[in-house]
Amino acid sequence: MAAVQLEEVRKVYPDGFVAVEGASFEVADGELLVLVGPSGCGKSTLLRMIAGLEAVSAGTLRIGDRVVNEVAPKDRDIAMVFQSYALYPHMTVAENLGFGLKLRGYDRAAVAERVDDAARTLGLEELLQRRPAALSGGQRQRVALGRALVRKPQVFLLDEPLSNLDAKLRMSMRVEIARLHRRLGATMVYVTHDQIEAMTLGQRIVVLDRGRIQQIDAPMALYEKPANLFVATFLGSPAMNVLRGVLVSEDGPALVLDDGTRLALPADDVPGSRFGTRVDIGIRPEHLLRRGGGDEGGAGGLAPTVDVVEPVGNEVFVNMTLGTHPLVARLPPGELPEPGTGLPLRAAPGRLHVFDPESGRRLE
Ligand code: ATP
Repeated sequence: MAAVQLEEVRKVYPDGFVAVEGASFEVADGELLVLVGPSGCGKSTLLRMIAGLEAVSAGTLRIGDRVVNEVAPKDRDIAMVFQSYALYPHMTVAENLGFGLKLRGYDRAAVAERVDDAARTLGLEELLQRRPAALSGGQRQRVALGRALVRKPQVFLLDEPLSNLDAKLRMSMRVEIARLHRRLGATMVYVTHDQIEAMTLGQRIVVLDRGRIQQIDAPMALYEKPANLFVATFLGSPAMNVLRGVLVSEDGPALVLDDGTRLALPADDVPGSRFGTRVDIGIRPEHLLRRGGGDEGGAGGLAPTVDVVEPVGNEVFVNMTLGTHPLVARLPPGELPEPGTGLPLRAAPGRLHVFDPESGRRLE
């Protein structure tokens, strides 16, 4: 049974702006599903519709086996965690955790038991008598999670819960959320604009752009087989290299760029029906491999000019230009090509992505 189901859901704001169009997907019972996309793509709007904080303009929204389009937020059996923790500053951690339950009429003993449970799960036992001002950002975020936890909701909705934390804390809280999800086996819908968070947390990811779902799949499936140029360039850092040109077949397949640069491509990697047409070729930075010396730009390769070299410890990002096109490669540590020189590279076979430049769709 799907815990949450959307069918052709649409959101039009009062000013006529269409923030979400034709959104259909299911979140399975116990699944952690991530909604990801750039700022303004409609991910918060989608989550707020599931929460009941925004009305659904058209389509059907189910939680469990109930249609909830017209159901008030408090009756949806969901709990939401926001980016701003919104803790009550005058209350202790224990009071913050128990407040929602008290409002719902739970008796003292039941509140205390659930608060203790949540505090143990989240490692907050020592902090129960403190006020939010005396907590670190990570601890506050944990209290915000705890407030959702005590409710034992059918579905957890998390809206960028980590974006107020610094990079290191974000990483450790990310692991905590993954652990929590595994321990609780809870259904979670998690909104983020951070592709690393999406890739590491999501069992499946919904990629959104301008209010429309671009693709729904498991993280690695999205990475290895993006359905279109948007998904291809949104996921992955540094981003996928994309080169536009005409596919030709002379001594094997090649792409001729607008400035005349010729890029030899691995045989078998391009759809034969596309020879003579314009395509976008995508190559991930880690799929640009170094060639042995000698054949500069010759068969099966290219030799872009090295521009900026960025050693980041466990790998090296090499920024280059091929003709007038920027390219990035990811090389193993220790490789430090000289700026201004040509770097002989080839595209790893079986790793090319080919897209239609008109529609942006992946070509097989
Ligand atoms: P961010 O990561 O910046 O929070 P988001 O993907 O969560 O972005 P939403 O907050 O869902 O985006 O907003 C989607 C679009 O709807 C945006 O273009 C936004 O400007 C617009 N929007 C949001 N609220 C309203 C409103 N009340 N009236 C009109 N347009 C709105």
